[in-house]
Amino acid sequence: MSVVAAAERQRRTDGQADTYYEAIIIGAGLSGMYQLHRLRELGLSVRVFEAGDGVGGTWYWNRYPGARFDSESWTYGFSFSQALLDGWDWSEHFSAQPETLRYCNYVADKLDLRRDITFDSRVAAAAYDEDANAWELAFTDGRRARCRFLITAIGPLSAPTMPVIPGVGDFRGEAYHTGLWPHEPVSFDGKRVAVIGTGATGVQAITEIAKTVGHLTVFQRTPNWCAPLHNGPIDAKTQAEIHASYPEIFEQCRNSFGCFIHAADPRNALEVSDEEREATFQKLYDAPGFGIWMGNFRDLLIDEDANATITEFMTRKIRARVNDPALAEKLIPTNHGFGTRRVPLESGYYEVFNQPNVRLVDVRETPIERITPAGIKTSDADFDFDMIVYATGFDAITGAFDRIDITGRGGRKLKDKWVDGPRTYLGLQIAGFPNLLTLVGPHNAATFCNIPRCIEQNVEWVTDLMRHMRARDLTRVEATVAAEDTWTAHVHETAARMLLMKADSWMTGINRNVPGRRTRTFMAYAGGAPKYRETCDAVAADGYTGFALT
Ligand code: NAP
Repeated sequence: MSVVAAAERQRRTDGQADTYYEAIIIGAGLSGMYQLHRLRELGLSVRVFEAGDGVGGTWYWNRYPGARFDSESWTYGFSFSQALLDGWDWSEHFSAQPETLRYCNYVADKLDLRRDITFDSRVAAAAYDEDANAWELAFTDGRRARCRFLITAIGPLSAPTMPVIPGVGDFRGEAYHTGLWPHEPVSFDGKRVAVIGTGATGVQAITEIAKTVGHLTVFQRTPNWCAPLHNGPIDAKTQAEIHASYPEIFEQCRNSFGCFIHAADPRNALEVSDEEREATFQKLYDAPGFGIWMGNFRDLLIDEDANATITEFMTRKIRARVNDPALAEKLIPTNHGFGTRRVPLESGYYEVFNQPNVRLVDVRETPIERITPAGIKTSDADFDFDMIVYATGFDAITGAFDRIDITGRGGRKLKDKWVDGPRTYLGLQIAGFPNLLTLVGPHNAATFCNIPRCIEQNVEWVTDLMRHMRARDLTRVEATVAAEDTWTAHVHETAARMLLMKADSWMTGINRNVPGRRTRTFMAYAGGAPKYRETCDAVAADGYTGFALT
């Protein structure tokens, strides 16, 4: 324990805090686990508090049927440890949730992380004590802990939201939110099942549930542009090639906009002939993963005319795959172009609607009026169900922060500070909240990224900051208001040129199930991971410009 920590532990005479650590990390998902590993190496006294009873974060909670990667598995694992890479084989190109959760546990075992993690601990409040330069945490069960540095590793999509529909609590059958899926198996066999929501989660769940369900009714408000995943097993030869090429794989990810294996095509869509454009789209449609979104013509997500070309292509694909033309039209988005919301990747989603036991209810035509004890009542029918699955998403990016009562300097609440959208410096720190570091926080490139790639960058940057401060006996870091204003303006300027800003989605801060989430504000950093990394590195190299270090 450092001199500072020992002094603080001695200083505690009020008996309020049960435990003091130099750093507390909230969350034992991938970012929390890696941050723990790095801070332990630095010699800090550090503890992770995790609400669940196991590691894995998003992969711990999202056990819904069909949950699997949209990132190539072999680009997703941690790259920092050769031993971790050597000891793990992914079985499929896009691993399913159970395998990914096993991977998270494998990491925890290999790095011996569990001895520094306290499970079943949900943080209710965190307040900065200015006199002590310490954060005081209160847990939902009344326990408390104190620390000098508070690091949030709470994930961008970890605060599930139920729809605001009258009667949600009245239903007498089985009801599940995809983000809080039970640990026990759930059977759909012979049951009448409703799914509300057709985002990336709904698309995966609907496709899987349709395989065994008695009858499925999908309640769709906004259709999304879905593209084929093209998953498959990894054979022994490919496995060996993957292991041999990890350095090249990670280098390629490092240099692409979102740290995926798919680098943008340097051509503009309208520069090439119609035939060449069609052939490019078809090739990407037939290829696995996000290539059609991330590896497509460079102007598709910034130029309306260019975007119209891929939107038209995807429209034809939906019409070709859905037998009933009227139904196909309902599945075609009309209020946003392809790629301007997060693209769900699918494995037979459109064909589900050709099954005789599947029905689509367009709730824009016939809105849901209420959930009843027996099922769902829309404006034109009463439906009886055995089960309702809520695939209704999350209070994204800032929601998990809002669910903790965070108080900074001078009694200022973070929730109040962010009432008109987040304000941050580098998506990692907030003026008025000293020593609070936000991994994968708002305005951070990690939210718009093949996430472990950006988690490694975030964690290593924070670790370097801790190292820098310890070497100089510095105990307090806080972004200046000027630096925060400049970064926040830069985040907004960068997003303004993206067509993403023209669509309502969790990425633009919209969630009609949460009061106050109805104004578009870009929640992540849209300048790309390479530029973000360069900026963070330059700030560090300049002695942490924009931060007051004392
Ligand atoms: P989402 O994209 O926010 O989708 C929520 C869905 O619920 C939308 O279709 C929404 O309709 C609908 N909805 C919400 N309230 C409703 C209501 N009152 N009535 C009717 N419909 C309602 O959430 P998600 O699907 O959970 O996905 C969130 C993100 O998680 C994804 O974008 C992705 O980044 C991540 N994810 C990743 C993976 C992966 O990597 N494999 C898988 C799943 C999810 P509207 O669109 O009209 O609001």
